[in-house]
This record gives sequence, C-alpha cells and structure tokens, in this order.
Amino acid sequence: MVATPLGNLHDITLRALAVLGAVDVVAAEDTRHSQRLLDAYGLKVRMVAVHQHNEQAAAGPLLELLAAGRQVALITDAGTPAVSDPGARLVARVRAAGHPVVPLPGPCAAVAALSVSGFAEGGFRFVGFLPARPGARVAALAALRDEAAALVFYEAPHRIVECVADLLAVFGGARELLIARELTKLHEQTVRLPLAEVGVWFAADPNRVRGEFVLVLAGAQAEAGLSAEAERVLGLLLAELP
Ligand code: SAM
Repeated sequence: MVATPLGNLHDITLRALAVLGAVDVVAAEDTRHSQRLLDAYGLKVRMVAVHQHNEQAAAGPLLELLAAGRQVALITDAGTPAVSDPGARLVARVRAAGHPVVPLPGPCAAVAALSVSGFAEGGFRFVGFLPARPGARVAALAALRDEAAALVFYEAPHRIVECVADLLAVFGGARELLIARELTKLHEQTVRLPLAEVGVWFAADPNRVRGEFVLVLAGAQAEAGLSAEAERVLGLLLAELP
C-alpha cells in the first residue's frame, strides 16, 4: 500500500520510488493519472486499474499474481490508499489469502490538515466524506455534536458552502474550524476561523470555493476552554477586583 503525493510531486518517499520501480505490477485507481507520477520519476512498470467499481473483480487476477510470487503495489490518485479511497476490500482479500500487506506511509490529506490545525492534541476522529443529501448530512453531524476529539471531514467543492452552513447550524458559531484547501498545490490555503465567520470568508472570494478541501473541526472539549480574547478580558476584570 503505497502513499503518493496530494499534489506536489516532490512529496513522494525514497522508499515509495524504490518499491514502485521494483514491483511486478502497480495497481492504480486511475492509470492515466498515475502514469504522470511514474513518468515524472522515469519508472516503467506494468499498471492495472483497481477502482471502486472493479475492486472485487480485480482482486482475483491480483491474488493469482501474488500466489505466483509476484509483488504488487497499490496506489490511488492521491494520498494513502484505502483512506476514503479504494483498497480496503482488496487488502481484506489479500490478507485472507495469507499474503503479507505492507504499508508505505506518506501523504494523507486528513493528517496534513490536522498537523496545521492546532486541534490534534486531544485526539481526532476521521469522518471522511459526509452524506451528500442535506437531511442525512445534518443527522450525521448531529450525532457528532458532543465528540471531544477534533473531527476531520473531506468535502467536495460543489458541496463545501452547504456543508459549512450545516456545521454552523449543528455546532454553533463559537466552534472553530480549520479549512485546508489545495494542500501542497499552487493555491494552497489554510485558515482557522470560528464557524460564525466561515460563510463570510467563502463569500469574500469566489476562488475560495474551488479545489479540494479538508475541514478540521475543534472538538467539543476545546470549546469549554476560554478563547485567548476571553482570557485577556477575564485577566483585566480580575485585576480590577479588590
Ligand atoms: N486517500 C486520500 C488521502 O490519503 O487523503 C483521500 C482521497 S479522497 C477520494 C479525496 C479527498 O481528499 C478530496 O475530496 C479532499 O477532501 C481530500 N484531499 C485530497 N487531496 C487534497 C488536497 N491536496 N488538499 C485538500 N484536500 C485534499
């Protein structure tokens, strides 16, 4: 299981390059997309397509290769395979057949966003993509209202505005959100705001709704603490007390 870049092609590990150059077959979510990565590093290797629509069907021939002693690398379009990406069902089949499965760690959009959120100290819960239908999305969010850990969401650009509106409705304006857009790419942007200000932030520039997004929401516990401003005001008031 080989993690690949989220955008910046330099975000590939030396080990990933060595393994992609050495395996017999690279199973890729989108072979045309991944060909660009392989070409960038001069890697010539046979590729087969393994995506969410053929994962079960593709498992058979890959298991035959493994049984014949061949080595297979699985990559997806970006980041870590099987994280909101194809791969989990294939891994289960490969393990069940008794073959070793080895992780080659590397980029993951959720972890990259968490690392710059400042919310990760109390743990985190990876939610991934929320339901597309508004009713189901609000219900899913409501079930997370009291989660103490930071919440990590993936969201598509065409749903980002309605998604943050639902976050505001469910979690209230004081809860803070980290918006990570286009990580590692030319227009990378990360901003941390209270939910009350997020709608205005998106409305201020139409480019801000473009690209790929990770949202990291502060956990419920963090809310119980005082903001820096509240602490400053409290300090001033306490100083006035006899
Ligand atoms: N397996 C990937 C990983 O390890 O992060 C996730 C794949 S999932 C199909 C694609 C989603 O990941 C996007 O819709 C977006 O939410 C997030 N994502 C991927 N690349 C990103 C990037 N460069 N910046 C922000 N989010 C990204």
